[in-house]
Amino acid sequence: MSCEIIVKLGNRLREELVETCRRRLPNEACGVVYGYRTADELIPDGFAWIRNVAPNAEEAFAFDPGEWIAACYEAQKNQRLIVGVFHSHPIGANAPSKRDEQSLVPWDSYWIIGFAGSDGDIAVYRHTEQGWVSLPLVPA
Ligand SMILES: [Zn+2]
Repeated sequence: MSCEIIVKLGNRLREELVETCRRRLPNEACGVVYGYRTADELIPDGFAWIRNVAPNAEEAFAFDPGEWIAACYEAQKNQRLIVGVFHSHPIGANAPSKRDEQSLVPWDSYWIIGFAGSDGDIAVYRHTEQGWVSLPLVPA
């Protein structure tokens, strides 16, 4: 029995997120997604890009610790919730990689922007006891 959560993603936010990741190519981009949640909907309303300090940034990501803390304070100050984290796959699809599986932390949602195609394609996942579950994306 799974209770499915729908992600309502506005066009503008989608484009900004893809563009932010595109500008960091060939490196992976990463950050947090702000928004709110109801019982069956996840509604993102913004994001914060966080510098990727992974030494092998073309194939991994690690949040800059200072910027990560700043993003959390910023959220708290503005009474916003961090509903997920995002990162990009510069040359890969938007499916979770082996590394993603290993570096798992309990977030509400994981956003992966894949650039296997030229356009940048967003997928949103939750990690459950059954593994990765892809969440349906609908226009806001
Ligand atoms: Zn990944």
